Amino acid sequence: MVMGSLPEDVDLAVVGGGVGGYVAAIRAAQLGLNVTIVEKDKMGGHCLNYACIPSKTMIKVADIFYETQHSQKFGINVQGASINANEMLNWRMDVSAKLERGVEFLCKQNQIEIVKATATFLSSNTLQLTNGTSLDFKKALIATGSEPVVLKGFEFGGNVIDYKRALMLESIPKSMAIVGAGYVAVEIGTLYAKLGSKVSIIARSDVLSRFDRDAVELVKKKLQELGAKVYTNATPASHDASSVTLNSGEKIGAEVIVVAIGLVPYTGSLVLENTKVKLDKKGFVQVDSSMRTADPSILALGDVVGEPMLAHKAMRQGVIAGEVAAGQNSSYDNMVVPAVIFSDPEIAIAGVIEGEGISVTKFPLSALGRAIALDTTNGFVKIAYDKDQMVKGVEIVSDEASSMISEAALAIEMGATLEDIAATIHPHPTYSEAVMEAAEGALGMPIHFFVPKKSSE
Ligand SMILES: Cc1cc2nc3c(=O)[nH]c(=O)nc-3n(C[C@H](O)[C@H](O)[C@H](O)COP(=O)(O)OP(=O)(O)OC[C@H]3O[C@@H](n4cnc5c(N)ncnc54)[C@H](O)[C@@H]3O)c2cc1C
Repeated sequence: MVMGSLPEDVDLAVVGGGVGGYVAAIRAAQLGLNVTIVEKDKMGGHCLNYACIPSKTMIKVADIFYETQHSQKFGINVQGASINANEMLNWRMDVSAKLERGVEFLCKQNQIEIVKATATFLSSNTLQLTNGTSLDFKKALIATGSEPVVLKGFEFGGNVIDYKRALMLESIPKSMAIVGAGYVAVEIGTLYAKLGSKVSIIARSDVLSRFDRDAVELVKKKLQELGAKVYTNATPASHDASSVTLNSGEKIGAEVIVVAIGLVPYTGSLVLENTKVKLDKKGFVQVDSSMRTADPSILALGDVVGEPMLAHKAMRQGVIAGEVAAGQNSSYDNMVVPAVIFSDPEIAIAGVIEGEGISVTKFPLSALGRAIALDTTNGFVKIAYDKDQMVKGVEIVSDEASSMISEAALAIEMGATLEDIAATIHPHPTYSEAVMEAAEGALGMPIHFFVPKKSSE
């Protein structure tokens, strides 16, 4: 032990108490390891404090506010609805704080020590902490996440903000320009449009360009309905305190400019040169399927090891890393990582919905009782399958798609066939029936929508 070390060696030192880090710590502790988490900011990391949870909290508030004013057809007339941004912010902060306390409680129950400090590697077996101590470990786990990409000419500061600030504003901006077109840009754009901001999304090509156009068109239609404008094939050239100017010379009013053009792995301050850990060309920590780095005593997971940069992927890798640290032979070999965009309507996808040898059947929500009852027929389920009728992918565009996609992930992981899904009783009336209906459609015998037989049949 070096001078100033914590009193004992730990079996596992976890650097970063985000969703990947704390899950790994809990699993390792459950398996009998003595674990310490070093976290420089808040337990729960970006997901609980600045990203996933705050955005979904605020999306819910924005939905309530919007629905309150747009429910006349149900006989509901609310006059003078208003939003208090400070109270919304308090609610959003309270939700994160509650979850952070929950994570701390779980760590305590599992005898995991939490040290609030920034960690730097002194060697393959020692961390230097900014609280002046050092920590010797048998194994360490790098779970340091990612940080937002900075756009040249649009560096963060003043009215140019990142996603964290966008989810902590004390007032609703009259106008907001969002540079970027991925799911973060769409989620933030939709929520502020619903809260009353004049939103402009500046997309290098188009919004959600890597997703199925059938789905994206519905999201774009809703954005338009909300008064948000999507500038496609657009490049921001400059900005001032109240506007963004595009390369084309067009000027867009923007009290606030959110730059959301992507995330890069965060390894700053780790000083990995003192270890054998290797990075790839993009700066991601290289790991094998057991989350082992090139350094035998160091594991890594989550955003810092690569795409997809999603919390549920980090958590699954956390379970694997915790088990591997405890000597188990676990491996990250999931077939699918579901992806969800909490847009309006939500888009959720698991597996693939196109490719060689793959057929696709689509069930429209306009034929679903639940969707008609809730006036949410703007969507569909697509199911993709191979020649043996094995389910290869599902895309859901619907309210609650985020929850429903788990059935698809399970189906693919378990090698389910169309028949397995079609013959499984789905509760009525629910959105989940749409997955069953799509499978029935793929089998050529849809119950709730009619496909005329071809004359030759
Ligand atoms: C706006 C937004 C919304 C998102 N929404 C979703 C969503 O709905 N669903 C989803 O699955 N994903 C979502 N994501 C992605 C998700 O936030 C990340 O994939 C997830 O947080 C990654 O987890 P992690 O454990 O790898 O890292 P993080 O959660 O980022 O945790 C890393 C932690 O490490 C700490 N740390 C870093 N360096 C050090 C150091 N040297 N010493 C000590 N501590 C250190 C940091 O303070 C941080 O707490 C969203 C992202 C954004 C930007």
